[in-house]
Amino acid sequence: MKVNSALITFSLANTFKEINLITHDMHIIVCVKQVPDSTDMRIDPKTNNLIREGVPAVTNPPDLHATEEALKVKEKLGGVVTALTMGPLQAESTLRELIAMGVDHAYHISDRALAGSDTLATSYTLWMGIKRMCEIHGPFTLLFFGRQAIDGETGQVGPGVAARFGIPIITYTVRIEEINLEKGYIVAIRKVYDGTERVKASLPAALSITEEANVPRIPTVQDIIRAYRAKITKWGKNDLQLEDDKIGLRGSPTFIKRVFPPPPRKKGQIFDGRGKEREAVQWLIDQLLKLNAFGEKTAEIYEEAKPLPLAFDKTKSFGEVWSVVEHRYGKPDPVSWELLGEARRLSRLLGVKCAAVVVGHDITHLADEAASYGADKVYVVDKPILRDYRTEPYSIALRELCLKYKPDILLMSGTQNGRDWAGYVATLIPTGLVADVTQMDIDPSNGQLLATRPDFGGNEMSTIVCPRHKPQMATIRPKVFKIPPRRPVAEAEIIREDITIDEKSIHTELLEFKPREKLRLEEANIIVSFGKGLGSPKNLPYIENLAKVLNAEIGATRAVVYSGWISKDHQIGQTGLTVRPRLYMAIGISGAIQHVVGMQNSDIIVAINIDPEAPIFNVADFGIVGDLFKIVPLLTEELSKVVKIA
Ligand SMILES: Cc1cc2nc3c(=O)[nH]c(=O)nc-3n(C[C@H](O)[C@H](O)[C@H](O)COP(=O)(O)OP(=O)(O)OC[C@H]3O[C@@H](n4cnc5c(N)ncnc54)[C@H](O)[C@@H]3O)c2cc1C
Repeated sequence: MKVNSALITFSLANTFKEINLITHDMHIIVCVKQVPDSTDMRIDPKTNNLIREGVPAVTNPPDLHATEEALKVKEKLGGVVTALTMGPLQAESTLRELIAMGVDHAYHISDRALAGSDTLATSYTLWMGIKRMCEIHGPFTLLFFGRQAIDGETGQVGPGVAARFGIPIITYTVRIEEINLEKGYIVAIRKVYDGTERVKASLPAALSITEEANVPRIPTVQDIIRAYRAKITKWGKNDLQLEDDKIGLRGSPTFIKRVFPPPPRKKGQIFDGRGKEREAVQWLIDQLLKLNAFGEKTAEIYEEAKPLPLAFDKTKSFGEVWSVVEHRYGKPDPVSWELLGEARRLSRLLGVKCAAVVVGHDITHLADEAASYGADKVYVVDKPILRDYRTEPYSIALRELCLKYKPDILLMSGTQNGRDWAGYVATLIPTGLVADVTQMDIDPSNGQLLATRPDFGGNEMSTIVCPRHKPQMATIRPKVFKIPPRRPVAEAEIIREDITIDEKSIHTELLEFKPREKLRLEEANIIVSFGKGLGSPKNLPYIENLAKVLNAEIGATRAVVYSGWISKDHQIGQTGLTVRPRLYMAIGISGAIQHVVGMQNSDIIVAINIDPEAPIFNVADFGIVGDLFKIVPLLTEELSKVVKIA
């Protein structure tokens, strides 16, 4: 189908000045990455380090869903689908896989100078590559990304590229509802932590696609042979005239300072219950009752930090430490206070003030709440245009605040909206952003933020720094840090900023928000989780009955979610949710590292598994070796006698 070229080019006018329109066919681009297969990663038992050699490379799984979505759009509306990857020579096999799926043309940016690129440098390189692709195939209408890459798991590159083009992005898309080329818009459904959003964006637009959106097609043998022979255009640094100080290590604000194995968790008590099921169940209940495992989560102790003896030039002044308050129409998400507690701790280490940032409409009450959780200052941007969360106006507001007040550190939430916002704003500023940080510290020798995060599905920990850019940004998932106690009397300096944002420059509209009907799994006090050991979805009553007795929520592994036994919002782990309940019961779960990273901070972990060697026993406080079909009904029956839960 031919597309009205004026329509496609209107909002690209600024960024695409140099582009000569050659064709009017709709141009759909998909950006993909080749990643190491983290299921195949092993730890060297001697050095405790990750063995990287011989790890097979695969196409980032969410990118296959992005490709499928691009191909579906083409099948409906016509046009041409092109694919772009940046990576070493072997990444060519990923492009061949995409050609076999049906992609028309493939482009590969590969150059040694790109090694060490972080997400900011990567979004720059892709942006330059896409501009060149548009010279060949015409301006794009749609730009697809996978939800996130499974190695870095940042989800930052899509928003970063969109920010560079000045176009809207709809991240975490589960369904495209409508594309209207005549009127120049797309409507898509995105799933976020607190519900679903129906978003309308003007074209051209970028979308990041989740695994829920579709099932990627499997190419035929003929397709694979055709793809093997297909031409792939290769570009190096010079072909795209990439600037040296914007690529590779030199162009990356963040870099890895230290890599180390994750700390081992203490091994708990294991009861071999094979043939002694009743005894095992009684033992487990006794242990759990002793610890009051069915009661409320124990109040976590938040310790006020003392200033560090900083061993660097004291005349160098530091900016404030900021954390952003995440909310929906003025209702704060608890993660906001977890971030604020950390911001306060870091500010005390540095001897500077900590501030909360509140962006939205009718949100003044959140300033008082932030003060009660420990903010010394609160920056408030309150405007009708900021009523709904939208990437562009929220990013403009936060960027303006950062440029004016120059904070040293900026913490944002690792929810879907937090990542979307952080990825966009970090590119606009521009600065470095570290995703999914689980530990933070200050380097006493220079005052820099040391942001530690799990990499490669939790197989390795990396400490990342951002020494030359400010603010040093980090996203943090809910339930990673503690909420500080509320102060009965709290005073904070409130700074109101009126930032001009023109609705005409905003390309998205939130058409509808549907809140989640059920409690978020992250908020549950007790979680009963199950895996493939359950055998079949028809056995779900085993889990449901136990959960009912404990008034618990149900969690699951990716394996059962992918098998369609339960919906994705129950998935716990690297590509699911992080939870931290009082009690976590892992039933028929092997304990793969990708699952464990999502639940290892639970107060008490119980595992029931038939295999005494199952890795889940390495993280369990209490384990029963035994057949779940014998243990769980007994446990349910006995618990119903002793547990009194309101
Ligand atoms: C990039 C990537 C991201 C991933 N993200 C996640 C994620 O977010 N979350 C996640 O969970 N996984 C994730 N995975 C998948 C993960 O690697 C594992 O494959 C998955 O967690 C295994 O699920 P499982 O434990 O249900 O199944 P299995 O590994 O098949 O384990 C089933 C267990 O049940 C036990 N069992 C069998 N029968 C019985 C019985 N009768 N009684 C008691 N026990 C029994 C077995 O001994 C076994 O230990 C990811 C993988 C990759 C590559």
